[in-house]
Amino acid sequence: QSITTDMATLTREVKKFATDKKIEIENLKVREEYRREFMGNVSHELKTPLFTVQGYLSTLLDGAMKNKELRKKYIERAEKGVERLIYIVEDLDMISKLEMGELNLEYSQFNIVELIQNVFDLLEMSADKKNIILMLDRKYNKPIYVNADKEKIQQVVTNLVMNSIKYGKENGTTEVSIEDLVNNKIIVRIRDNGEGIEKHYIPRLFERFFRVDKSGARSEGGSGLGLSIVKHIIEGHDEKIYVESEYGIGSEFSFTLEKFE
Ligand code: ADP
Repeated sequence: QSITTDMATLTREVKKFATDKKIEIENLKVREEYRREFMGNVSHELKTPLFTVQGYLSTLLDGAMKNKELRKKYIERAEKGVERLIYIVEDLDMISKLEMGELNLEYSQFNIVELIQNVFDLLEMSADKKNIILMLDRKYNKPIYVNADKEKIQQVVTNLVMNSIKYGKENGTTEVSIEDLVNNKIIVRIRDNGEGIEKHYIPRLFERFFRVDKSGARSEGGSGLGLSIVKHIIEGHDEKIYVESEYGIGSEFSFTLEKFE
């Protein structure tokens, strides 16, 4: 009798052990798949600018060095490639931290109007190149204080305004506006009259590495990580991010924040 009971218990335990191990292995497989995919994307994203830099440097070594004009042009382009690599690596660093759940928000109270103005100042040169006007629509001429992680919100605003310039039309406008919502919240909208996004791409915009134009024709594009970083940061604050876009007309990205009064 007791041997039968022991056997039954043992069988049950062995079965449970096997099931647990199976689940563990499944989890490991999923993580391994994720890691493999991530590494694949990373090397793909790094290759293009690396080849660009290598191309310019080889051409310089092959003789272009002797031509004063070409020399300056190619060195500048190589430098741009390196700059792009740095951006990509910084984005990768950020996204891997975010996806590992290492967001570590440091809340403080700051004036969001001033932050937006700072971002405009930093991006003015890029906007000027396409003759894009950066506008801040302020219904009230006073500071608006919010409670959030200032550095991370600065990154959110930078990524969104940068995108509005990258995908904006020449002579276009980027308009940022702030509105009050109920429940002590505000909504910040970044609207452009640029190329817009086709409807079927919209659900995928916030996926990491997703880019509408995969052909690489859009040389100024980044890593496809900007919007996924934005989403992580906003959702990490328990806030919401929205997008509305019409192909050929323009896009509006908006996010909510908690007001501090
Ligand atoms: P990246 O700009 O580095 O490619 P993002 O994650 O910031 O990556 O954006 C993903 C894609 O979403 C972009 O490649 C672009 O196709 C599209 N996109 C983002 N912002 C805009 C915008 N304001 N107007 C049009 N398309 C946009």
